Amino acid sequence: MTRVLQSYSQGRWQSADGEVTPLLDASTGEAVALMPRNGPDVGAMLQFARKIGGPELRKLTFTQRAAILKDLGKYLFGHIEEFADISLLTGATRRDTAVDVDGGIGTLAVYASKGARELPDRKILLDGEIEPLGKGGTFGGRHIYSSKLGAAVQINAFNFPIWGMLEKFAPAFLAGMPSVVKPATQTAYLTEAVVRRIVDSGLLPEGTISLLCASPAGLVENLTSQDTVSFTGSAATAQSLRSHPIVTGRSVAFNAEADSLNCSILGTDVIQEDGEFDIYVDQLVNEMVIKAGQKCTAIRRAFVPASMLEDVAEAVSARLGQIVIGSPRDPSVQMGPLASHGQREEVRSGATRLMAAAKVVFGDLNKVSVVAADGEKGAFLSPLLLRSEDIYASEIHSVEAFGPVCTLIPYQTFGEVIEAASLGEGSLVASIVTADPALAKVLITGLAPWHGRILMVDSSSAGESTGHGIAMPQMLHGGPGRAGGGEELGGMRALSHYMQRTAVQGNPSFLETL
Ligand code: NAP
Repeated sequence: MTRVLQSYSQGRWQSADGEVTPLLDASTGEAVALMPRNGPDVGAMLQFARKIGGPELRKLTFTQRAAILKDLGKYLFGHIEEFADISLLTGATRRDTAVDVDGGIGTLAVYASKGARELPDRKILLDGEIEPLGKGGTFGGRHIYSSKLGAAVQINAFNFPIWGMLEKFAPAFLAGMPSVVKPATQTAYLTEAVVRRIVDSGLLPEGTISLLCASPAGLVENLTSQDTVSFTGSAATAQSLRSHPIVTGRSVAFNAEADSLNCSILGTDVIQEDGEFDIYVDQLVNEMVIKAGQKCTAIRRAFVPASMLEDVAEAVSARLGQIVIGSPRDPSVQMGPLASHGQREEVRSGATRLMAAAKVVFGDLNKVSVVAADGEKGAFLSPLLLRSEDIYASEIHSVEAFGPVCTLIPYQTFGEVIEAASLGEGSLVASIVTADPALAKVLITGLAPWHGRILMVDSSSAGESTGHGIAMPQMLHGGPGRAGGGEELGGMRALSHYMQRTAVQGNPSFLETL
């Protein structure tokens, strides 16, 4: 019988009665778990994290917390194939799972080792040097970071049920805040399975992780000024939560990662015979196919010099034509289904809006051949490559079809492509493929105010490049404007979201002892 998911609150797994929503296998449409509407008392869950988890964590130094994360990373790596089996249900191929599950645990492991190397064996962090504030040298000031005393509420999107949780949990834990995780309903069974293993490991101090598998009713209403919210999801949900009177009234720290119309630019120096041409085409195809394009960082707008557009369209279409789509249980499959039928309908609707400004180069929204699966029972969709002749068409800069959909856009000048990229109103990532460093610098200068991350790829770096869509724990992930205006990761920078910065003034000889 299909199992009802449980929440982990106040140090125990809790069941709920009442209405449930079936969660379906993305490839077969069969129910794999049930999400209850009712859950545990959210106020009590938050209070347990604040009163038990927070103090337990703050007894430890940064070095001790890093050591626990290291052990947890090793423990979770030991269970990876068990998680990969569950990840299949979300429609993920093994390669997709590597990004979400292996990538999530890897991110936690990077925080463990960076924490051990870069953080002190103490409980507060210093920020900068002592600033003299008096002529006689007896008065000065310095800044410190101390752990916030609340709960770190983490609301995640459906597409990264594990990476989304662990990339927030690891820096919060290091910073000394207990996590309260709210997974997206569609893929919550995978998050629940991993949290079970985290709890079973016995490695975490009590109260430092809680899981809410239920309606989030009351979550925001119970926040205090020492709590934080880290949100990943749609711009619409981000806006409604950010503007909630409790969040604004209590100045609750709120970090958002929302939708993003990321771009990739082929340099004007590149011709078809260059290695950079293949790099650009490969990257575009990968970004459409990995996780069936359900990546917040995937390329949505592909800017190509007008003279190269035909060549790029032909090369990308040829590659897309070879992609095997079907059940991720079949090892030959390169692209699985979308996470749900609802998601497929959303992508079709977004792509239809894009098609008002762009024509189809490859793919059909209503036709797809699949292997080892029933194309109608599963949420399968063909990759869809579009082409817009008008670089300023409003749809291509405003509609995010969150699936295997990308639009080719021809450009003439650097000025034009920089201006067009900015019409996305702020994105997580842009990539530039060129062998000309001078050209790259012009583009980076123009693009940087609109982006959280910029990737420059040429033949010399492509072999080691982590790719356009991969958010590395050492590098900042987030973006201005439409992308949510938030920042995550970026190495130890991430800890600052969970800590209070305070200016301390006094005699410099005292400040030295802090
Ligand atoms: P969503 O519908 O906005 O949901 C995001 C999360 O918010 C889910 O966990 C959802 O729970 C929860 N939620 C909804 N209403 C809430 C409320 N009143 N209080 C507390 N939580 C609430 O987004 P999605 O469909 O899961 O994700 C797709 C979007 O996420 C895409 O637009 C994509 O671009 C974006 N995304 C961004 C990033 C990034 O890092 N920037 C990463 C991945 C995805 P339920 O599922 O239970 O409704």
